[in-house]
Amino acid sequence: LLTVNNLEKSFAGADGPVDVLRGVSLTLDAGETLALTGESGSGKSTLMHLIGGLDEADAGQITLDGREVVAMDDAARAALRRDTVGIVFQQFNLIPSLDVRANIAFQARLAGRYDAEAAQTLAERLGLGAQLGKYPEQLSGGQQQRVAIARALAARPRLILADEPTGNLDEATAADVMEQMLALVAETGAALMMVTHSPALAGRLGRRLHLSRGRLA
Ligand code: ATP
Ligand code: MG
Repeated sequence: LLTVNNLEKSFAGADGPVDVLRGVSLTLDAGETLALTGESGSGKSTLMHLIGGLDEADAGQITLDGREVVAMDDAARAALRRDTVGIVFQQFNLIPSLDVRANIAFQARLAGRYDAEAAQTLAERLGLGAQLGKYPEQLSGGQQQRVAIARALAARPRLILADEPTGNLDEATAADVMEQMLALVAETGAALMMVTHSPALAGRLGRRLHLSRGRLA
């Protein structure tokens, strides 16, 4: 499903360019689950953003679902985000003017895969059944995080990129949400790449890669 080859990315820093990714390579098969670990600032979110077509690499290749992401123009990137990838952002990125129900439906509608009944079940399984008519600002951080997960899953993407999707949840809720997320991912046959700082959660996924000094091990 996904092949990343020799990916490089640097950002402008105060003392010149900062090389964040210095030749990152990985593969992910359809239906596979992968944990991505690495210390704060190691480039985990940057890597996810490049794979999801949200930012542009300096060099290297990303092949996702048979398409070359690095070479894509803006329209192709937007189509990739709409049809193929679901992203659970570290900062949630919910749409403030939409209630929970509409937030969950948002990407699925764009992708033409919205199913109201399935979305309802999904929300209930993530413990959001009583929140559907609320707006993001009326939710706790953990509830917002679960809406972000539901939004990504409802669109049934082939690849889910989840950036610390349980980072705002207490241990018990995190384990519960993780359980539901893995079950839902398995049901849809999606592949999952998930950033986590929790060894316990990383252990629940099929494989683990660690990002350090711009490279994966
Ligand atoms: P955390 O665990 O804290 O979320 P991370 O591994 O996700 O960290 P990134 O957000 O990918 O780390 O950032 C990696 C490095 O790139 C950091 O040094 C950060 O300051 C820098 N960086 C990320 N995005 C930008 C940007 N848009 N402009 C400039 N520098 C950036
Ligand atoms: Mg990050």
